[in-house]
Amino acid sequence: MKITEHLTNAKSTLFSFEILSPLKGQSLKDLLEGIEPLMEFKPPFVDVTYHREEYIYKKHPNGLLEKISTKKRPGTVGICAAIMNRFHVDAVPHLLCGGFTKEETENALIDLNFIGVDNVLALRGDAPKTEGKFVPERDGHHYASELVEQIVKMNQGKYLHEETETNFHTDFCVGVAGYPEKHFEAPSMKFDLKNLKEKVDKGAEYIVTQMFFDNQKYFEFVKKVREIGIEVPIIPGIKPITTVNQITMLPRTFFLDLPDALMDELEKCKTNAEVKEVGIEWAIEQSKELIAAGVPSLHFYTMSKADATYKIAKAVF
Ligand code: FAD
Repeated sequence: MKITEHLTNAKSTLFSFEILSPLKGQSLKDLLEGIEPLMEFKPPFVDVTYHREEYIYKKHPNGLLEKISTKKRPGTVGICAAIMNRFHVDAVPHLLCGGFTKEETENALIDLNFIGVDNVLALRGDAPKTEGKFVPERDGHHYASELVEQIVKMNQGKYLHEETETNFHTDFCVGVAGYPEKHFEAPSMKFDLKNLKEKVDKGAEYIVTQMFFDNQKYFEFVKKVREIGIEVPIIPGIKPITTVNQITMLPRTFFLDLPDALMDELEKCKTNAEVKEVGIEWAIEQSKELIAAGVPSLHFYTMSKADATYKIAKAVF
């Protein structure tokens, strides 16, 4: 079922979450057993991230470095199938521009359609860590809006090659990312919102936000988004801070601010366990306020660790 249908049918705020595909060499069984407790809160959908290849350098005895492309977290499509089979919920694979030609995107969409996926989150992706700037594949997409356009065209039965004979078309519901604290590359919020509108104008039917720790940032974002005529649902992304390392890593990686009141509490913590307690408590308060404001779903970034999200969901749903 489409995310938009889930949201339309809902009588109150839904619970949903995102998992990472496991590192190569790790089992799917552990991942599925790990998220099983979260099914208590009846998520209508679970997002599965996609990770493009990264480059590592292998040093040869002659001193020369060889650049090797490797994929640390394969398996997004397989995990989606496993989630749908085991839990009977919709799986939402993330689909990237980065690393894909348009032809590969078309083929990936056919695979997803054949396994019964009804929704995709269309994203640009970031540059590989070893490269500073996002560069599309030859004949790949530069921006998520172009990916949205391709998916919508396939929904209309328009494939890349006009000679493709079709007696069937896909019907994906497409979501896109939004940034309450602005995407880091955008020179201004206004510019970023204009590009968000382009994604929606091209056919995106809902928005999932980057994580934020200050609800005012989400409320202000929603206001600005509505002011420029975007009417689709905006699902807030919630991430409980669970380790000392995340206090500096999350703002650095995702270009966001931690509010002073949260930092005041975190600064008193000496251990991961103490940080986690504060992080969970903060996310509970955020969640309560967002539910009271009538948000469509609370979407948790679990990083495939369910325990903190479980405690928050137990407290608010
Ligand atoms: P876009 O919407 O294409 O925007 C990227 C930048 O380009 C923005 O600054 C925008 O303002 C600008 N821009 C857009 N259009 C134009 C234009 N026409 N001209 C000039 N500038 C333009 N990454 C992964 O690798 N895997 C994942 O599974 C994943 N899941 C995510 C889930 C969510 C909910 C979010 C919020 C992010 C996720 N990301 C993921 C990270 C995402 O790939 C990065 O944030 C990426 O840098 C931007 O992706 P986007 O789809 O927002 O890009």
